[in-house]
Amino acid sequence: KESVMGGDKFDCQEEIASEKSRAKRSAYEALKEERKKLPIYPFKDEFLQAVHDHQVLVIVGETGSGKTTQIPQYLHEAGYTKDGRMIACTQPRRVAAMSVAARVSQEMGVKLGHEVGYSIRFEDCTSEKTIVKYMTDGMLLREFLTQPELDSYSVVMVDEAHERTLSTDILFGLVKDVARARPDLKLLISSATLDAEKFSNYFDLAPIFKIPGRRYPVEIHYSKTAVSNYMDAAIVTTLQIHATQPPGDILVFLAGQEEIESVEENLKYQMRGLGTKLDELIICPIYANLPTELQARIFEPTPKGARKVVLATNIAETSLTIDGIKYVIDPGFFKMKCYNPRTGMESLLVTPISKASAMQRAGRSGRTGPGKCFRLYTAYSFQNDLDDNTTPEIQRTNLANVVLTLNSLGKRMAEFPLDPMLSKMIVASEKYKCSDEIISIAAMLSVGNSIFYRPRDKQVHADNARMNFHTGDVGDHIAHLKVFNSWKEANYSTQWCFENYVQVRSMKRARDIRDQLAGLLERVEIELTSNPNNLDAIRKSILSGFFPNSAKLQKDGTYRRFKHLQTVHIHPSSGMAEVIPRLVLYHELVLTTKEYMRQVTEIKPEWLLEIAPHCYDPKDVGDSSSKKMPRGCGLAL
Ligand code: ADP
Ligand code: MG
Repeated sequence: KESVMGGDKFDCQEEIASEKSRAKRSAYEALKEERKKLPIYPFKDEFLQAVHDHQVLVIVGETGSGKTTQIPQYLHEAGYTKDGRMIACTQPRRVAAMSVAARVSQEMGVKLGHEVGYSIRFEDCTSEKTIVKYMTDGMLLREFLTQPELDSYSVVMVDEAHERTLSTDILFGLVKDVARARPDLKLLISSATLDAEKFSNYFDLAPIFKIPGRRYPVEIHYSKTAVSNYMDAAIVTTLQIHATQPPGDILVFLAGQEEIESVEENLKYQMRGLGTKLDELIICPIYANLPTELQARIFEPTPKGARKVVLATNIAETSLTIDGIKYVIDPGFFKMKCYNPRTGMESLLVTPISKASAMQRAGRSGRTGPGKCFRLYTAYSFQNDLDDNTTPEIQRTNLANVVLTLNSLGKRMAEFPLDPMLSKMIVASEKYKCSDEIISIAAMLSVGNSIFYRPRDKQVHADNARMNFHTGDVGDHIAHLKVFNSWKEANYSTQWCFENYVQVRSMKRARDIRDQLAGLLERVEIELTSNPNNLDAIRKSILSGFFPNSAKLQKDGTYRRFKHLQTVHIHPSSGMAEVIPRLVLYHELVLTTKEYMRQVTEIKPEWLLEIAPHCYDPKDVGDSSSKKMPRGCGLAL
């Protein structure tokens, strides 16, 4: 028999456990009630009937009507996952896939990654149990490589179709074929805009299911005169709303992380200056690289007496719905990936939005009551300068990746979830026996430009720390390698990152990516070999992938790309900015105030001829502006 003592303890634990599960259940019940209030809810049965009757269905409903979060759940409840097949729902953006999956797992009362999961590049949060899978459109595209008929899915929902991202447009073609081959597969194309006819036409006149929206009037205010700096204007407008307008949260659209961080800092500073004169202003940024726990903050209800201001990229236009927004500030810009076939250059350009986007943005303020939208441009500009619609990405991008993906549905390179140039660099590292170093570099480059941080008050320290990795400098790629290896030697320590002004989160991500790449090397049977002291071998591997990205120093101190008349500059954040080598390769070009090369490494002219003789001519490469040949150049040029 149990002793009394033991019994007591047992009871007590049981009480705690049941208290926990009671709290969980009541949160779940509350969410269940909330779900019933969504515009899509009254149409649930009608919707399920339509899916039953038709193989392909186009769904139109305003942002926030419940398409993304509810439809997969309805289908699951209706038995579409009974045979263990999954429901896929694609999103153009990683953040949206993660955030929606988190929400739906809560609504279903399950752990994220179990029944409900997400899959984005370099991060697979799914398991054997997963039946509802949110994923980026790019990831579904990749899945075609391994399962051309998408056998593990019963339903594919291509969400946010109106965004017309490159991957989504390509998916259209592929899923259309699969639907013909697999009559049991249901295909849903969902869009937040009303021009759904073109989708319906493309899918052999598939029926359109409209979810009637609830909309409140939105008052539009234009700037009286052209705005010279829209970030400043956005800050002033935010503060004005906060000081003079009734309660309600503010949503500000900005073009990327840098703008968001700068506005955030500035707003905080201004609020501090105002002391207690104004109510609390809770500033919530949201962009792709923001840590997940901070992303969740935008959805937290605003406490009474305070006001929330969400600083968002285009993601808040249709992909994410934030409740409680009453005021929208729209500067009229977004960051668009553009490809110029003449220069072969892809760049992120801050570009004016379209009229359709401006309408969408304004609409975000009228979801739960009448709203106001402040456009930081003139009414004349809206009428005359903005295009009606944004050009679909497929018409303005570099199709190299797509061609590769489609072609490969067996090349080694396509195994790598990377850009073709990075993949080529990795494949080439086998020849130069430095695959170990190259995958570290590839991983670091894939993390992007968020390795180092530079706090305003410690810029000098941060810059010194960064330059430590540049001793004996040949370029930013090698510096990246040094950063990774030093962190590894420090046992991946957080303290080390802290001391060196390196972002822990970025480094962890680089480590994850590197692990994946190591796994992929094994799969394509490239041996992991290390050649740490042969910097030439490492640089030649990089050049094998990036040979189109080379530039030569001109007499005036600028650089010029080969075969292009384009003048480029070394980005000031590069360790090479002061070194000014004669010949360089770069990872990417970014257009800000000038055309900048980011991640720059010095190369030798004879390497270009050795690695890419089809692209480079001895007379171009050797046409030295200084007339002096670099030392060690063995070729007669
Ligand atoms: P749609 O896809 O039609 O734009 P959603 O299904 O994304 O609509 O959103 C429906 C509702 O779910 C939103 O109004 C919002 O209240 C809520 N919601 C969606 N995502 C989240 C989230 N990550 N956190 C909290 N609430 C969310
Ligand atoms: Mg949605």
